[in-house]
Amino acid sequence: MSMEVISPRSRGFLFTNAHPAGCAAMVQQQIEAARKGRSAPAAGGTSLIIGASTGYGLASRLACGFAYGMKTVGIFYERPPSGKKTGSAGWYNSAAFHGAAHGSGLSCASLNGDAFSNPLKQQAIERLRDGFGPVDLVIYSLASPVRTHPDTGATLRSALKPVGAPYTTKTIDLDKEQLVEVTIEPANQDEIDQTVAVMGGDDLRRWIDALLGAKLLARGARVIAYSYIGPQMTFPIYRSGTIGLAKEDLERTTAELDRRLQAEINGNAWVSVNKAVVTQASAAIPGVPLYLSLLHSVLTDRGLEEQPIHQALRLLEDHVAAGATPTLDAEGRIRLDDREMQSDVQAEIDRRWQRVTSESLRADADFDGFKTEFRRLFGFEVPGVDYSKPVETEVPLPLD
Ligand code: NAD
Repeated sequence: MSMEVISPRSRGFLFTNAHPAGCAAMVQQQIEAARKGRSAPAAGGTSLIIGASTGYGLASRLACGFAYGMKTVGIFYERPPSGKKTGSAGWYNSAAFHGAAHGSGLSCASLNGDAFSNPLKQQAIERLRDGFGPVDLVIYSLASPVRTHPDTGATLRSALKPVGAPYTTKTIDLDKEQLVEVTIEPANQDEIDQTVAVMGGDDLRRWIDALLGAKLLARGARVIAYSYIGPQMTFPIYRSGTIGLAKEDLERTTAELDRRLQAEINGNAWVSVNKAVVTQASAAIPGVPLYLSLLHSVLTDRGLEEQPIHQALRLLEDHVAAGATPTLDAEGRIRLDDREMQSDVQAEIDRRWQRVTSESLRADADFDGFKTEFRRLFGFEVPGVDYSKPVETEVPLPLD
């Protein structure tokens, strides 16, 4: 037992602790949205979500379970509570998921470990064999700055840099809450290669090889890999940068897997291009907190704002749940970023991007909304949570 009053602790803008009750409340909000989002009877089946504890992966798991009655197997890499240190947000999110799923009679299992490794893939195969059977839906939602290569043991690191030329952008200095200009030097070839090795398609291919080899993909199974494109304005740091090259590699791999799954199991693999949202991964990209603050404001003004749970529900309902036929773009991708990319939305973001200053961060952009959303990722500033009360930090995470 370790009852404590938890106040946010941060290093720079990043939080180094998390609030168990706040994380649980955030999960509960998404469960309610998932339940509301679907009136038709549950579809059933099993989904495997790789990267299931935060952001898009968690939302996908909640939508699969609570809106579609699917069994879910979740893979993630999270820090358990230990001594004076709280667990990570993803630890508490997953504990809350398991509690709620059990309460609702939803079958689930989780594996906490390195998804890039061969032993973890083997454990997932064994866990699926022992209790779940073939998977109907695989969602690949990993975001990681580092990968230990499963064959060589080399440590590979992803870089968030432009390619070919330096990139100068407005960005928010998150500590000082001021707009500043930063210049990021272009990546060298080694940084490009390592980023593609971490965030490209190699690991997804290995997952699908392992599942096909073990006959654990059901006939007609669907595989979804998450990607992002975004507007021209962020191209130098995102789509044409190191991370964009990794996403292109992921997209090429997914297209190859699609052909293979069609031939072998009458299945499919598609990329889903999702909208930009505030997550631990996205907030780390230079210029993106400013873009997210503008996007949130412009979409909210138009009644078009969506959280990851709404995107996950739309993905299932419109494109990939049993019986749904996906609408694909010319490159064969599902586009959940349609509202973000609407020309009127982008034109307004562009106008505000040009004129925004430190003084107008709260008028032209919703910087306070960005900060609140970011804090809520760690369970802080969640409405209805009494932060003056001690909470149990040693929350167990039952993996079954
Ligand atoms: P996130 O940081 O919230 O989640 C990352 C997940 O990966 C967590 O569950 C974490 O535990 C897991 N993970 C990381 N390293 C791991 C490892 N070695 N082994 C096992 N699990 C590991 O990230 P996110 O923003 O939700 O991103 C998920 C996907 O969605 C990424 O492919 C990202 O590019 C894509 N996407 C994100 C956005 C956005 O704006 N956030 C937009 C479009 C697409």
